[in-house]
Amino acid sequence: MTQPNIVLHVADVHKRFGGLHALADIDLQIEAGKTHAIIGPNGAGKSTLLNVIIGKLAPSSGQVVFDGTVLTGRKPHQINQLGIARVFQTPEIFSDLTVLQNVMIPALAKRDGAFKLNMLRSLESETAIRQEAEDMLQDVGLTGRIASHAGSLSRGDKRRMELAMCLIQHPRLLLLDEPTAGMSRHDTNTTIELLKKIKARGMTKVIIEHDMHVVFSLADKISVLAQGRIIADGTPDQVRGNPKVQEAYLGG
Ligand code: ADP
Ligand code: MG
Repeated sequence: MTQPNIVLHVADVHKRFGGLHALADIDLQIEAGKTHAIIGPNGAGKSTLLNVIIGKLAPSSGQVVFDGTVLTGRKPHQINQLGIARVFQTPEIFSDLTVLQNVMIPALAKRDGAFKLNMLRSLESETAIRQEAEDMLQDVGLTGRIASHAGSLSRGDKRRMELAMCLIQHPRLLLLDEPTAGMSRHDTNTTIELLKKIKARGMTKVIIEHDMHVVFSLADKISVLAQGRIIADGTPDQVRGNPKVQEAYLGG
């Protein structure tokens, strides 16, 4: 049974790629308002798990339940419409449009149920969404770049823009796949501060991350994946001291 304070329940999920058991027996419950980190060595199954949650991959068995709704079998855009947004490992942005336009588009797509090309022509007249996009960009520290082409942003600034693209959808659940990958220490710390600010607003987050500094700065709860199985979970302190976790990292 899913408890009432559980936003997302990954129930007994298995995923096989041919002979490879990429996810085995995954049971994961994400509590409302919490930041839940999923960590584990390379190849552990972290991205596969995320892709199962967002509907990009179908599980071989088991199901994912979000707010009482079974997600399994639904398409990624339907799952997004239900209130799950994710920051891609590889950002999907419109390089030739401005930063402001990139942030307005997901809000329009959410309002209208889908992305349509003619939205690009009507962007000028969408004053309410424009204002909200400007506010989001201020939140992520990009006010100075709103008129720049998205393609000209630094990697760190692109990540910030992407976060604004997610936040403007007001998701109930935000999924982040290695949000600080490839960032300098300075940009990483700025992103941690930003994610803490979002947390203060009560948004539920699942964060996949291998940078322990990021994980221990942000997570309320950590699940450790190794070879497709959850080998430990608990608070950061519980996980830090777990010999199985140290073994998985050193041996992996
Ligand atoms: P992580 O994100 O933890 O590094 P992944 O979820 O990307 O791990 O991969 C888990 C395992 O599944 C790896 O052995 C990987 O090679 C394999 N894998 C991932 N995606 C596919 C796929 N589409 N087809 C076959 N094998 C895959
Ligand atoms: Mg991965």
